[in-house]
Amino acid sequence: DSEHLESTLNILNVLDELLSAGTDRRIHYMIAKGGSEALLTALVSAARAPSPNFSMLVPVMHLLAKVGHRDRNIGQKAEKMEAVLLTLDLLRQNVKHARRAAACLWLLQVFCSSISTATLLGKNGALDIVFKLISPYTTKHTRMSTVKGGFTLKHMSSVFFPDANSRCAVAKGYISGLLRLYEDWHHRDMGNGYVTMCKALLRCLQHATNTSAARAAVVAEGGMGLLFHTTQSCLDNKGLESLVDAAVQLMRKCYPKCPVPLRSGYSAYMFPLPGSSDDDSNDGNRNDDQSSRDYDDDLETDLKKLRVKPEPDRPMEELGQYVELCPELHCDFQDLDSGSEEEESSDEEILLCGKNSTFKSAPRGLIDQERDGLTDHLRARDLHNHYLNSYKAKEDTPGMVDRLLEKHGPCIPHHDPRTYAAAAARTNSVAGYSILAFPDFWGHLPPCCQELMAERKPKVQRERVFEDILRYLHPEDLINKVVFDLEDPSSQVNSEHSGSLRFFSKFESGNLRKAVHVRSHEYDLILNADANCSQHHQWFYFEVSGMKANVPYRFNIINCEKANSQFNYGMQPVLYSVREALEGKPHWVRAGSNICYYRNHFCPVHNQNGSSSAYYTLTFTVTFQHTDDVCYLAYHYPYTYSALQSHLQQLRKSVDQRKVFFQQQSLCNTIAGNPCPLVTITACPPSRSWRDLQQLRNRPYVVLTARVHPGESNASWVMKGTLEFLCSDDPAAKTLREAYIFKIIPMLNPDGVINGMHRCSLNGEDLNRQWMKPDPNLSPTIYHAKGLLYYLNTTGRSPLVFCDYHGHSRKKNVFLYGCSVKETLWQSGSAVDTASLKEDPGYRTISKTLDRIAPAFAFNSCNYLVEKSREATARVVVWREMGVLRSYTMESTYNGCDQGIFKGLQIGTRELEEMGMKFCQSLLSLRRSTMLYNRKLISQPCTLYDLDDKLQDHKSHNSFEDDEPPCVEEIEYLNDCCPEYNEDMLDQEVNSNAFSSEDEEENDKPRSSLQHPERKPRLIPCFMHRTSLEALSVKRSSCQSNDITNNT
Ligand SMILES: [Zn+2]
Repeated sequence: DSEHLESTLNILNVLDELLSAGTDRRIHYMIAKGGSEALLTALVSAARAPSPNFSMLVPVMHLLAKVGHRDRNIGQKAEKMEAVLLTLDLLRQNVKHARRAAACLWLLQVFCSSISTATLLGKNGALDIVFKLISPYTTKHTRMSTVKGGFTLKHMSSVFFPDANSRCAVAKGYISGLLRLYEDWHHRDMGNGYVTMCKALLRCLQHATNTSAARAAVVAEGGMGLLFHTTQSCLDNKGLESLVDAAVQLMRKCYPKCPVPLRSGYSAYMFPLPGSSDDDSNDGNRNDDQSSRDYDDDLETDLKKLRVKPEPDRPMEELGQYVELCPELHCDFQDLDSGSEEEESSDEEILLCGKNSTFKSAPRGLIDQERDGLTDHLRARDLHNHYLNSYKAKEDTPGMVDRLLEKHGPCIPHHDPRTYAAAAARTNSVAGYSILAFPDFWGHLPPCCQELMAERKPKVQRERVFEDILRYLHPEDLINKVVFDLEDPSSQVNSEHSGSLRFFSKFESGNLRKAVHVRSHEYDLILNADANCSQHHQWFYFEVSGMKANVPYRFNIINCEKANSQFNYGMQPVLYSVREALEGKPHWVRAGSNICYYRNHFCPVHNQNGSSSAYYTLTFTVTFQHTDDVCYLAYHYPYTYSALQSHLQQLRKSVDQRKVFFQQQSLCNTIAGNPCPLVTITACPPSRSWRDLQQLRNRPYVVLTARVHPGESNASWVMKGTLEFLCSDDPAAKTLREAYIFKIIPMLNPDGVINGMHRCSLNGEDLNRQWMKPDPNLSPTIYHAKGLLYYLNTTGRSPLVFCDYHGHSRKKNVFLYGCSVKETLWQSGSAVDTASLKEDPGYRTISKTLDRIAPAFAFNSCNYLVEKSREATARVVVWREMGVLRSYTMESTYNGCDQGIFKGLQIGTRELEEMGMKFCQSLLSLRRSTMLYNRKLISQPCTLYDLDDKLQDHKSHNSFEDDEPPCVEEIEYLNDCCPEYNEDMLDQEVNSNAFSSEDEEENDKPRSSLQHPERKPRLIPCFMHRTSLEALSVKRSSCQSNDITNNT
């Protein structure tokens, strides 16, 4: 009856009035109190009436759309109350009534937020209705129907989303239908209305192509060409950007998957492993990129695990072997008394050999070799043949290198090419490298100027993607010639005089597997997987020659694996030119333009339809300065194992052995038989007196390690800075040597570094996930590094500080990860009462100091959380098992800084080395007795110790998330790039529909709602307010506590 109707309308008005004011909190409150159910009940009972009253039904639907849009469970609720199909029926019956149909469409859109609801609608013919509601331009082309059709589609696009509906769309030919409609609208109507329609059609296609059948249907129907050509005609129109973006995303999504052109996805380098205690040593599908994990679930909240030290992983009797690795504790410093510096034996003594007898003879051989000059003629000649021929040098004698050095001799501190070549000659690689990469051999000096981050050109990715799509549309235009193949040397010979660039990577740390000449100045490059595995493509290092000057060459590395990269945020690869080096500029420089990183259409060899495994393209364009130069391109400044070995030799030669105790030993041999260097640095005692020797032996230990991840060459440059500083004459360095004994393992993963790997060691495992129970055969360096730490621990000499240097691929700046029980519990929201837990806050001292003294360091990026996924890392194991309070991972960016004086600059080796120095200097802050030196280094030394810990909030520094904002262009194509309707947009549209009356059908132009700035768009005009409120108060007094649903 009419009174009843009026009351209901009044209630709806008041509700709308209440919900339109303020924030969404009221709506959420209403949802929590059963508001959605109440409105659904109202809807269902009104719609089931023999002749539904639309003057009430429409406002109910409007309000339900507004509320339901904010209710995550609206789909299930609607299904449960049988409102879904009822609404669909209402739509069916009212396709001719625009206002009613619109209300139904909003509601269905809101219901479709649940996949199961969308599936239900699909099964019940919703797709057919959608196609009934829209019509081709050719049959009906008034402006009104354009808007209305677009409107319908926009709201119903999510009905295509469920797999079942997508398959149904394929079966019924709707994919083809949508494409034809798109083509039709695109070609005929260039007015405004067509954008809405085209966008809505693309949105439907985007949703519908979630199944491979639907993507195949798009391709089979000529969708790629259609979308490409229609898009090209829109490029100049700024107003059509979003349409172009949507079409590009759709083309990327439908681009047929193509396996990378390799015979096998497994690494070209396979290495037989020694017997192992457990045999699943091969690479599985482990994905230790934790980005996919739920971060908060990953925090360790088990107090026992956080506080209790586990049992040792080996019998303690074994630790005796590590006595030898602590010569500083047994050395009697006879030289100090003899005063003779010229002792013949000193060299051999310095190279004290570790426990590994097979290595014992090697260092002596090394020394002989060095004395004889460059004895290894074979390698010298190979080196010469390789790059000097191509450089067209005239001379061809073994003395060539010497002469070159004489002529061009770069003055690179701590580097001597001959020492490098000798060190490289002893390095064991899986492939048996016989050629040196020139930059490693010749050396690198940081360029004089710091390098700005690259600016990203707008729409650069779109341009690159168009070129990729053209490959599909016009395969006949491609050269597709293999010009380099690690496994097939003949490919190179064939490309000698072909006009193609020449590539090479069979040298230490090199890892290009294949190069394909695609178009005249474009090459696809495929990286080698980590040895004995099929994953971890990211690091790259290769040589390129045969170029012409001033021609832009596009390089695409097509099998990258990470989901995002700093290459999207200003980072450039590094380039080294032999020509420039010989002209006195031996620099790795940042190079490359048009850089971007995005998901491509390639997939792993044996995974052609698996959508989970995707590859990404890193593309960049390089314009070389010189014709026929030999250049090297790398992910980051290379630092090889041979570079480390020769650096350590140079360093040893540089120190005053009477003042600096510098000893290099071998921690152990790697699987491939390369010694893993262990360096001990401390100050020699002033005399051999008992007191002085005791002082030395009582110095706290500082244990530093680096490069467990071979792709993180930045960590080696930081370590180089640390080593050089500790060996230097700097007064702070002297104080540090007098205060501490430094035990340094500069390269925990020599085999990985040598063989150009990114993440693993030869066993196909991430060594930084082995620390809990390292296998002595498969992870010997970790096993013995841990053994040495156990030894120190059991003799009461647990290190004061442990730090493992790493590189971070997704963040800027340099920062520390440490371990804190309290912070972990706080962050996890654990119920454990942390107030009663005692924890020394000293774990923050170093980061606080670094924040003051190291420009690249960012305190805000540090965190001290113990994650379950990291429980087998060095940092956590050394903290938990060795009781080292200050146990860290130091992460250095590959890119640059976004704060401090380096803001906006890419990081170079100078800054990385400086970071290594600053880390050492920060150790001074741990010693009150060294205040004097602190004062020199740090302007306000006193505050160092007194910094209030409470100043620090415990806000989440999520170590797994990118710090970067979303990339300007979509890296992925699976995501829907057209943003979902936000709530206010829906409110506004609902509102405008509320104004229109049934007889205003033809006037579809959305009205701007009369909005108070602080109000939400409202359903019903304000002038109704007072009367509604009055009506409500009457109602309230008459039926006190009744639920409003009972009144309908
Ligand atoms: Zn790392």
